[in-house]
Amino acid sequence: MKILFHLCPFVSSAMIGLLFTCPLTQAQQQSNVGAPEQEAVTPGPVTRPMVVEIAPNTYFINEFGMNAMYLVIGEKRALAIDAGTGFCDFKGIIESLTKLPYDVAITHGHPDHVGGIGQFDEIYMHAADTAMTHIPYEQRVQYGEIMRNMNIGYKNVWDYTKENVTKYTKQPKIKLLSDGQVFDLGGRQVTVYYCPGHSPGECTFLDDKSRILFSGDAANGNVGTRMAVSTTLRYLIRLQQLRTEYDQMYNGHIAYAGTMDVFSQKPQVLDDVIEAFRSLLRGDAKTEVVKNHLFPERTQTVAVYGVARVGFDPDKMWEEGEEHIVP
Ligand SMILES: [Zn+2]
Repeated sequence: MKILFHLCPFVSSAMIGLLFTCPLTQAQQQSNVGAPEQEAVTPGPVTRPMVVEIAPNTYFINEFGMNAMYLVIGEKRALAIDAGTGFCDFKGIIESLTKLPYDVAITHGHPDHVGGIGQFDEIYMHAADTAMTHIPYEQRVQYGEIMRNMNIGYKNVWDYTKENVTKYTKQPKIKLLSDGQVFDLGGRQVTVYYCPGHSPGECTFLDDKSRILFSGDAANGNVGTRMAVSTTLRYLIRLQQLRTEYDQMYNGHIAYAGTMDVFSQKPQVLDDVIEAFRSLLRGDAKTEVVKNHLFPERTQTVAVYGVARVGFDPDKMWEEGEEHIVP
């Protein structure tokens, strides 16, 4: 694994407040154990996004602990996955890593994944999330402040402030993603697997060359669903069944909140998320009331199984009229 610190000075920007829950994997939570708690938040020493080659021609780009973007480079084209919150010159980073033409595909419409789309002329995303792409500047600032002051992780790792928030003057043209769509990059193909739950338009991306599944926020250890639990579960089971086609899963929040570890999410996380949702449908879930880590004044009830904690809407366990057979 090669770690490069990108040479461009970062420009920055930020993102939104709102009701979404940023994911924190159990492994990431564990990696925070022993991290010093710091009351005073001072900008840290790292002024540039972290860029790591996680497989040949496959890059992880960490945007100041807020989220993880990826760049997959083939022989003829490249594919960027997610655009981040917009705190950094992601376009400049992509173009420093490849001279090939490239597409930008978004896993889902939450602000820490679409906030940076104003840098690009066009992006791909699923139709169900396209209404979520207009993110006011103030909300991006707010998101950065929440992240910087969040009471987990190492707070003083990243040096970014609201002064770095970039104001975009345009919205990109949106092209629609669909389940089964293939990005042929030349010598490697990336296939889209729709996986709604965390958001209605969530998509994951399976790269046949690196055998990595880029899973966005579909299935980390602290995921919630706004959709029927039964539907969410079916799509997650499909990801589990695809496991013969991938060896690693990189989600949208690797190296979250000041942790500097760059690793694949363990298969157990997806398995436990599935079991947690299953237990809700069976009616024997172990539940807990937890604080939202982004908004500590808010609490939510989650189902717990192994390393997973899953949020759900008690009024949306099944689709309307659906037979209650646990998948
Ligand atoms: Zn999200």
